[in-house]
Amino acid sequence: MSSSFQDGQNPYDFDHRYHGPFYTPDHQAWRASVRAFVDKEIIPFVDEWDEAGEFPRELYKKAAEVGLLGIGYPEIYGGTPVPDPFFLMVTAEEMARSSSGGVNASLLVHSIGLPPVLNIGSDEMKNRIAPQVLAGEKIHALAITEPSGGSDVANLQTTAKLDGDHYVVNGSKMFITGGMRADYYTVAVRTGGGGARGVSLLLIERNREGFTRTSLKKQGWWASDTAALYFDDVRVPRENLIGQENAGFIGIMMNFNNERLWMSASANALARVCLEDAIAWARDRKTFKKRLADHQVIRHKFAEMARKINATQAYLEQCALRVQAGEHPIADLSLLKVQATLTMEYCAREAMQILGGAGYMRGCRVERIYREVRVMAIGGGSEEIMRDLAARQMDI
Ligand SMILES: Cc1cc2nc3c(=O)[nH]c(=O)nc-3n(C[C@H](O)[C@H](O)[C@H](O)COP(=O)(O)OP(=O)(O)OC[C@H]3O[C@@H](n4cnc5c(N)ncnc54)[C@H](O)[C@@H]3O)c2cc1C
Repeated sequence: MSSSFQDGQNPYDFDHRYHGPFYTPDHQAWRASVRAFVDKEIIPFVDEWDEAGEFPRELYKKAAEVGLLGIGYPEIYGGTPVPDPFFLMVTAEEMARSSSGGVNASLLVHSIGLPPVLNIGSDEMKNRIAPQVLAGEKIHALAITEPSGGSDVANLQTTAKLDGDHYVVNGSKMFITGGMRADYYTVAVRTGGGGARGVSLLLIERNREGFTRTSLKKQGWWASDTAALYFDDVRVPRENLIGQENAGFIGIMMNFNNERLWMSASANALARVCLEDAIAWARDRKTFKKRLADHQVIRHKFAEMARKINATQAYLEQCALRVQAGEHPIADLSLLKVQATLTMEYCAREAMQILGGAGYMRGCRVERIYREVRVMAIGGGSEEIMRDLAARQMDI
């Protein structure tokens, strides 16, 4: 618990969420289960793990045991299928209460690494990889971004050239979540000519000769092992090709909708954590002989934060309903991500302002969230790219 709060006061107990009509008893049961896991296995340790720059590897197995790694995945691989994306949103909301996006990003990194295998990979590959990953025995990362750039995915430069029954991979990847500890990497490579039609996905195991990695230090997400990856004549068997040759771009794109919904739900939940902690603080803190919460300037900050959070929540739920109906609302999911990360940015700023110096101290949830704003606005599709993607689908 944050050291910035008075004894006996639990900042994790508040809930200022506008409760939509989409949550069934099954969602609530799942919420209770994730909450219990986060309360017991993550919240007490987040400060320590942030300072250490990693969390214990055994957390993957513990998360698998309560179904956190398998939620939304097919039963044959050890997962638990769900009927709608609201389970995903509940998971994001509950995970956000720890305020550590870094723990969440690395712990659930399989949610970006594994789907290409399940969406376009062979049955043999699915059977070989998915059960171990969903059981928390193996870690599965996604490596697309390169030192030359992440936004322009179609122009990636890492090459994979066929030599007999192996691909020979050369190049490097940048800012890869779970990159230091992963066992499997879904790697975007160029197997053909220029542009999106020359891109393939390869499954590369960590112990391949010529594959090395270095750790990267960051502004936030300290507990997440972010890495640069280097491929120097790495030989990868042809059967590790995920899907068809030169058809990997679609596998990458299929990932993005889910990732953006997840990131949006997380960003809004983190914004709500900021609101909750700021209110808890302002109720107790006295300045000029009254509670901070009784100053109108401060009260209006709460109203403004709630307004943005509720609007984002409504947009989130609308997008989730459309995904549930089988739509692929690419433009709206892109704008939703912008909306959610701007809300998070605003609320982190205002909450830290309300907390004053206490909000600037380590061990305070708002301080950590403030440091994690930019990665949410840049990773998984930056604000500029999201707006551009949406604008291209508008009739203008
Ligand atoms: C902590 C962290 C974890 C990450 N984890 C992963 C991971 O697991 N796997 C992975 O593959 N990647 C990962 N990324 C990379 C992330 O997806 C990229 O940082 C992101 O896509 C942006 O790419 P870039 O940083 O190379 O910026 P660039 O593409 O170089 O862009 C730089 C800036 O220019 C803007 N810009 C670019 N093109 C345009 C344009 N046409 N018009 C207007 N503005 C433009 C961008 O919006 C951005 O603000 C991670 C990044 C971070 C910080």
